[in-house]
Amino acid sequence: MPQAVPGDEVELLVLKTNKNYGFAKVTDIIAPSELRVAPPCEHFEKCGGCQLMTVDYSSQLDFKKNIVRDALLRLGKIDLEPDIIGMDCPERYRNKMVFPFAPDGSWGFYRQRSHDVIPLSDCLLGDALITEIMNAISNHIKKHNISVYDETAHKGIMRRAFLRTTDKEIMVVISANSDNIPRGDELISSITAISPKISSIILNINKKRTNLVLGDKNVTLWGKDVLSATLCGLSYEISPHSFFQVNPIQTEKLYGKAIELADISENDTVLDIYCGIGTISLTAAKTAKAVVGVEIVPEAIENAKENAKRNGIENAEFYCSAAEDIVPQLIKDGTTPDIVILDPPRKGSDEKTLSAIVSAKPKRIVYVSCNPATLARDAQFLVENGYTAKSVTAVDMFPHTVHIESVTLLVQTDSSI
Ligand code: SAH
Repeated sequence: MPQAVPGDEVELLVLKTNKNYGFAKVTDIIAPSELRVAPPCEHFEKCGGCQLMTVDYSSQLDFKKNIVRDALLRLGKIDLEPDIIGMDCPERYRNKMVFPFAPDGSWGFYRQRSHDVIPLSDCLLGDALITEIMNAISNHIKKHNISVYDETAHKGIMRRAFLRTTDKEIMVVISANSDNIPRGDELISSITAISPKISSIILNINKKRTNLVLGDKNVTLWGKDVLSATLCGLSYEISPHSFFQVNPIQTEKLYGKAIELADISENDTVLDIYCGIGTISLTAAKTAKAVVGVEIVPEAIENAKENAKRNGIENAEFYCSAAEDIVPQLIKDGTTPDIVILDPPRKGSDEKTLSAIVSAKPKRIVYVSCNPATLARDAQFLVENGYTAKSVTAVDMFPHTVHIESVTLLVQTDSSI
């Protein structure tokens, strides 16, 4: 019942019932919960992106702790009391936003369960400069009557904008069903006038019938091809297609916790699976003997190798392949990780990768997860194969939403398996 807050007394309409759970909609709030707060965003009701915005922040943290605790217990039979690391200021934390355009050139978000675009004037989760840049692009579309892409007819030019900010720079990627943007030079001038932080404007050419955020081909219209960032004292370059954590303040806390739990010493070899542009690998390389990073996106691996060079790190190597193929191969070929760090996407890891990990008998496994359900499933597999789950720390990377990141330490306790 998405509109309700724990403790509310509501009148509701039951929409659907399943065996163990159902769906309902609030029709009236009879007595509001003590946890209820007025949502600070005027788009809250229509948008649906910030499911917890009507719950006060400390209760959001309790709620998320419960999600992690429940998932581990119910789905993984693991009984642990999570810690949680929240934010001091839980707004404007996102460094990446993707917005589609409405037929009239406004920018916005998709109405829930549809691809109708509802115009936005601001999003409180994103960096404030992102709103200014979106307004500039939207004004350009309106002023020159540039067509907006229509998914059904597969016609029109402007698809969406993908913006990423870092402590140093801003990258603007405009996805279009065309090889160029009409009056592109004028658009570049209006975007670059917004802030000296803007460092690249990229046209992403996407002529396919697809819902993927970005097409394959990028053309740099202005500035650099990659974006620079600093994280945990190291400097990084990021390509548009590479994954980069969206909340930099919390990412430093998350990585700090992961590295603390990994407890790496100078004789340890660390395997970092699903390594992205090598952020955890290179942080681990500072103390490890050697680090091996594995990742499926080629651009991310190129970034990781460049990032190692840029930071003068010589004890890290990177492989571009699916984890389920390369991890068993590496271990067969003699890589013997003392510590494994894994940070899979929402669908979690898989039995091929996990079986290969346990066959190598690392002393510690640090599992970074953005989905408590797949964490619980994978952690249960590791527990059944000689490991004990020692601690779990949730990190609130996505305040006001139901999403929660966590880091779990598993220690080898039965080497006979
Ligand atoms: N540890 C990194 C990235 C975590 S996100 C960071 O903190 O920035 C998960 C990463 O897994 C993404 O970079 C994604 O491209 C990669 N990935 C997804 N499926 C994969 C697979 N089957 N094998 C290897 N990497 C995969």
